[in-house]
Amino acid sequence: MTGVPSLPTLYALLGDPVLHSLSPAIHNAAFRALDIDANYTALKTPADLVGSLMREIAASGGGGNVTLPHKGEAARALDHASDVVTATGACNVFWWDDGLCGDNTDVGAFRAAAEAVVGAGLQGRRVLTVGAGGAARAVVYACLQAEVEALDIINRSRERAESLRRGLGAPANVRVTDPDRLSEAYDVAVNATTLGLRDTDPLPLDLARVNAKAVLDLVYGPGGTPLVTAARAAGLPAEDGRRMLVEGAAASFERWLGVEAPRAVMYEVVGL
Ligand code: NAP
Repeated sequence: MTGVPSLPTLYALLGDPVLHSLSPAIHNAAFRALDIDANYTALKTPADLVGSLMREIAASGGGGNVTLPHKGEAARALDHASDVVTATGACNVFWWDDGLCGDNTDVGAFRAAAEAVVGAGLQGRRVLTVGAGGAARAVVYACLQAEVEALDIINRSRERAESLRRGLGAPANVRVTDPDRLSEAYDVAVNATTLGLRDTDPLPLDLARVNAKAVLDLVYGPGGTPLVTAARAAGLPAEDGRRMLVEGAAASFERWLGVEAPRAVMYEVVGL
């Protein structure tokens, strides 16, 4: 019917909490830059609605992202999962193509951010990761794909780190250790815990006791994070999670629309 205004295509971030997310600002700026009639919104979502919402939004022509704590739930809801989703058990982007499709852009986005802070590829590097949740899983998988020489994992709950390692086939170059046993020199130390989100959080790593050449914090904040501030004060190159966020957002945008994402616009939104 002519003369009936159409609604913008809906893209959504499903998670809980989602209020603090920069994703709506990043994607809406990208849609505006390319004159695409679409709207990205954050929806606080309970676990039992994740699959049905993904399906409704994607089948109506849109798509979206899934954030914590629902990336596993999202992976289980898919008709077509990418190899990375199958390997990590986590999905953070979805769209429709003859069924509900999903991928995990955290893996490639982490690699881009780590290579930027290290100043070179990850192949043959030594990496230290703190954390054993969903983000750490993407970090470990990306490091394995990149053929790092060694990857040490430390985590508050050691058993969870052991389980993460086992779940990825217990590779020989991945070791679960603890903060008192770190003697190696690392090319990059990564914070993949939630520490740094709140002002009262302790630092995830004591940099005086870690021999690292660079630091990447997956947590992000407008003025950096306490770990990034501490690393820079110690003379180390350091970045917070904004580059990973934008690289993941750009990869999502490209999955949905099949056109190159306007990265410069997206980086500007996060102040990079
Ligand atoms: P998650 O699955 O909930 O895992 C949380 C991790 O933090 C676990 O290793 C947990 O240790 C640890 N942790 C929580 N509180 C702690 C405390 N008080 N002391 C020590 N360790 C603590 O979360 P996630 O999905 O992995 O996300 C982790 C962080 O990465 C979040 O801040 C998220 O925003 C960020 N992230 C950023 C990007 C990006 O694009 N920049 C992408 C993905 C994730 P236990 O196992 O012992 O509980």
